Order: sequence, then C-alpha cells, then structure tokens
Amino acid sequence: MLKHVLSQAKTVAIGGHIRPDGDCLGSCMALYQYIKKCFPQVQVDLYLEKAPECFDMFEGIKEICHEIKEEKAYDLFVALDCADSGRLGFSEILFQKAHKTFCVDHHISNPSYADENYIVPEASSTAELVYRLLDKEKIDTEIAEFLYLGIAHDTGIFQYSSTAPETMEAAAFLMRKKVRANEIIDKTYYQKTYEQNKVLGKALQDSVLLLDGKCIASWITKKDMSFFNVGPKDLEGIVSQLRVTKDTEVAIFIYELGEQEYKISLRANGKVNVSEVASYFGGGGHIKAAGLTMCGDIQDILNQLTAQIRKQL
Ligand code: 5GP
Ligand code: MN
Repeated sequence: MLKHVLSQAKTVAIGGHIRPDGDCLGSCMALYQYIKKCFPQVQVDLYLEKAPECFDMFEGIKEICHEIKEEKAYDLFVALDCADSGRLGFSEILFQKAHKTFCVDHHISNPSYADENYIVPEASSTAELVYRLLDKEKIDTEIAEFLYLGIAHDTGIFQYSSTAPETMEAAAFLMRKKVRANEIIDKTYYQKTYEQNKVLGKALQDSVLLLDGKCIASWITKKDMSFFNVGPKDLEGIVSQLRVTKDTEVAIFIYELGEQEYKISLRANGKVNVSEVASYFGGGGHIKAAGLTMCGDIQDILNQLTAQIRKQL
C-alpha cells in the first residue's frame, strides 16, 4: 500500500496532529526516516509543532519543520495520527494543496478525509499501523525506536485494552533492533519534572466526584499554570491518574487555553464511549480516550459534559 501511494511521488510532506504526543511524533518520524533512507530519490519533509522536551533524547527530531517556509504543492501529503484535517494545524494548507493525500490513523472519529485512507480504529497506535506498512527488513534501529515510542505511548506502556498480541509481536520485533526500550519508557513517559508533579498533586487534591461518583473531574486555570510555572505540555498524564480512581467510569480533565476557552481530555473505563461525547461537542478521539475544546466557564462546561455522559450510564 505504501509503495503504491509513494509511486510517482517525487515530493512528500508528512504531518500529524497539533500538540503532538508520543504516537504522533513516533509514527511521523518513523515514516519520515524510512522514506529518507529507502526512497532516496524522494524529497520528504516533516511538519509538526514542537514536541515536549522529554522527546529531546531523539536526535532526529531536529529535522522537523515547525513552520512552512514555502506553500508548495507536494505530490503527496501523508497525514498520521490525525482524526481530521483541521487538527493538522499549521500544515493543513499543505494537505489542501497536495496533489494526492494519504491518511494513516486509528481514531474512531476519523471520517476517512484523505484520497486514500488506512484507518483501523481497533489498532493500538498509528505507529503500529505504520509498522505494518513498512518493509520489515528495512527497519533500522532509529526507525524502530520511533515506532516503539509510538506504540509504547498510545498503549499506556502496553496496558490499554487496545494492546493486542500483534502489538506485543511488533514491540518484540522492534526490541530486537536494539532500541533503548527502558530509557524511552522512563524518560518520555514516566519521568516528570518537580513542577509537573506539583501541578498533578494540585489537580488530584482539587478533583470532584460527579454523577454519583461515576465521574471524576478536575481543572487547571492559567493562574494555576503560572503559579506552578508550567505550560499545557506539563499537564499530560493528569487525566490518566484521575481515570484510575476506583469506581469511576469517566475522568474529565480541563485546562484553560484562553479567555473562556478550555481544552478537555476525557478518559473512560469501559461503560461510556467518550469519543461520542467529544464528537457531540466537535471533538473526537477513541472510545476510551478523547478530547475537545469548549467555550464558556468551567461549571457550565462540566454541566454540559456530564449531561451527555449521563445518557450513557
Ligand atoms: P488528549 O486528551 O490526550 O488530548 O486526547 C485524547 C485523544 O483524543 C487523542 O487521540 C487525540 O488525538 C484526540 N483528541 C484530543 N483533542 C481533540 C480534539 O479537539 N478534536 C479531535 N477530533 N480529537 C481530539
Ligand atoms: Mn495515536
């Protein structure tokens, strides 16, 4: 499939979703390195917003373009881990201008918006899907590390229900390529700065139970962020900690983006499909992990979200 979409393409752009996470960065970097190494006649560029500092252990990410220098029409644009073209952010214009588009993704909310689509909602990660597309003999240590990163992150370190036997087989294959498995997991997933842990503490301390204890919610305002000297990138992981609260079905974590504008992360434990809840308000994601942006005040947002969640309980 990859050979087919790449045939006739002399110039290729790759893009992923805004605020890139481990799977977005890993799948994009893996494909970028693979095309560079295996298709030297193709000119390939990768467009992504700057990733959190914990990913600085990967030298290769220095090649990522964080802005568009020239709005050219690429022969092919490959969108990875991105549920809709709007979420490509600054690279969306290149997607629109490209002669051909291809999307590889595992979000259930993805409407197959590209010319060609490889969308598998059950797949653990976009990185696992990219792995399936690559010629296995051509995967070197660097490519393997990025694929491992993506799979490890989107499975919550091989923990979520999307972790299939095939996922573990892919991870085993990649480990044999001598990836820094333990270091990748520790440095990019578990390690937190002192400030990140403090703000996690604040969010847990201030959390509230809603819907008879079936839902847990917490929020961090801009004022809190400046008090703890953290930014949005430092809040990753808070919603996962809320989710493991016993007897809850849904975790809601909210942080302030701007005046009356909030980013919301939703996580579910099985009964509720949070992709449906997020999609109802214009967001999207997976059945057990979804996100959206909403306007209004926090109380109002919580009321609207819990009204939708209640319908499924
Ligand atoms: P997170 O809560 O970690 O930001 O996102 C959870 C999942 O939902 C991710 O797979 C992410 O791509 C998706 N997601 C988060 N925010 C949005 C959004 O605003 N729109 C859509 N379509 N998906 C989102
Ligand atoms: Mn993903």
